[in-house]
This record gives sequence, C-alpha cells and structure tokens, in this order.
Amino acid sequence: MSDDDGRRSELVTSLGAVRSRIAEVCAACGRNAREITLIAVTKTYPAVDVVTLARLGVRDVGESRDQEATAKVAEVAALLAEPGEQPAPPDWHFLGQIQSRKCRSIARYAHAVHSLDRAELATRLADAVAELGRSPIEVFVQLSLDGDPERGGVVADELATLADAVAARPELALRGVMAVAPLGADPEAAFAEVQRVSARLRGQHPGAGSISAGMSADLDAALRHGATHVRIGTALLGRRAPVIG
Ligand SMILES: *Cc1c(COP(=O)(O)O)cnc(C)c1O
Repeated sequence: MSDDDGRRSELVTSLGAVRSRIAEVCAACGRNAREITLIAVTKTYPAVDVVTLARLGVRDVGESRDQEATAKVAEVAALLAEPGEQPAPPDWHFLGQIQSRKCRSIARYAHAVHSLDRAELATRLADAVAELGRSPIEVFVQLSLDGDPERGGVVADELATLADAVAARPELALRGVMAVAPLGADPEAAFAEVQRVSARLRGQHPGAGSISAGMSADLDAALRHGATHVRIGTALLGRRAPVIG
C-alpha cells in the first residue's frame, strides 16, 4: 500500500509498453520473447520504484554505481521484508565501470556483473566471492565497439583472453558478452558485430552464449541481433536528471 498510486500507474504503463515492444520485435524476427531477460535500470531512481517494479513482476534490476547500489539494495530488502505477500527481492545486475577497490562491495549484492573488462577484476571479484562464501557471480565480459577506454570494454581481439580468465575461476559463471552501442553509430552494425563476437566466444565457452545489449534507444536493433538481456532505464522509469560526479 505504500506505493504512490500516480507513480505506480506510470510504471504500469511504461512496463506494459516495453514488454509489448519486446514481444513485437521478437515476433517479427522469429524469437521467443520468454527467452529475453528484461533488466530495469533504476540508477538515480529510488528504492520504492524498484519495489513497485518487483510487485509488477520485474525480477532483474540494474545499477551502475556501487555506492548508490549498496544503499538501494539495503533499502529494497528492508521494504520487502515487511510482513504481507511481498515478492522476493530482485536479482541485482551491476552495469557500470568497475573500480578494483569496489569488487568486494559489489560481490555482496550482485547476481551478475555486465561490465567486466580487465583480468584483474575477475581475480578480485572471484576472491571476494570465495571470501564471502556466496554463490558464483554471473559475468558478462564487456566488448568495446569503438576502442574508447572512457566507455569501458575490451576490443574484440582481447576478449577471448579475458573470457578465459573468468572461466578459470569457479567463483564466476561466464554468461556471455555485453556491449553498449557507440554514440552516433548505426546500432544495427554495432549489434551485428556483437553477435559475431558472441558466436566466437560460444565456440570457446559453450555456456557463454548470452548477449547483454540494447538500451531504451536501441532495444529493437539489439533484439534483432540476438540480445538475451536488455537493459532498459529511460523507457521504464523516465528521463534521468544529470548525474553529478
Ligand atoms: C544507464 C544504462 C542503461 C540504461 O540506459 P537507458 O538509455 O536509460 O535505457 C543500460 N546500460 C548501461 C550500461 C547503462 O549505464
């Protein structure tokens, strides 16, 4: 009963629209929409929005800054621990650039990490998982499509080596590849490249066939090129205020 009714109906509408879009694109390209994991990217939005989405059936939530995520994970857990028929807390996906000193913190709450782009991070995350005695973290290695180090990711030639480093650690479960389409580039071409890299990765690691690609603006193109995990913020929650710092 604590949900703000106006906000709740906004989220009902936007979630319905995003789900319909996924269903339509999948139908048009012969894919099964049930195989798509919709990750609601809730950065800059409050814990109560996560709870509302969870009550509407959203099981996967994405965040990109550790400090914000840590606070929100605790708040959501507290809200959903109240008596009554509440859904279980969602699975948290870490999407942002990772600083090595944050690995221990991320390992406390992350179900999956989508932005792993250095072997050192694999070591640190795996060590943290071992220390915490928790279940393995799912890992997507991030592919850089434009080679811009500011935006994270490894270039295609280095992806196999990084994937091997992840696969070598039982504390990490290699799921596949993640990419963000370069600004101003044609998303169809970008995601076609991601699909080729994914096919090669799957040849090496048969369990790593997932593709984390597609945001609010390029969801359709990503689905047409095999995305299995779509990361949707703006289209679900609204336009974000600019993040300072
Ligand atoms: C913010 C973010 C998203 C969601 O972007 P929208 O355009 O708001 O849908 C997806 N992936 C990553 C890595 C992000 O940082």
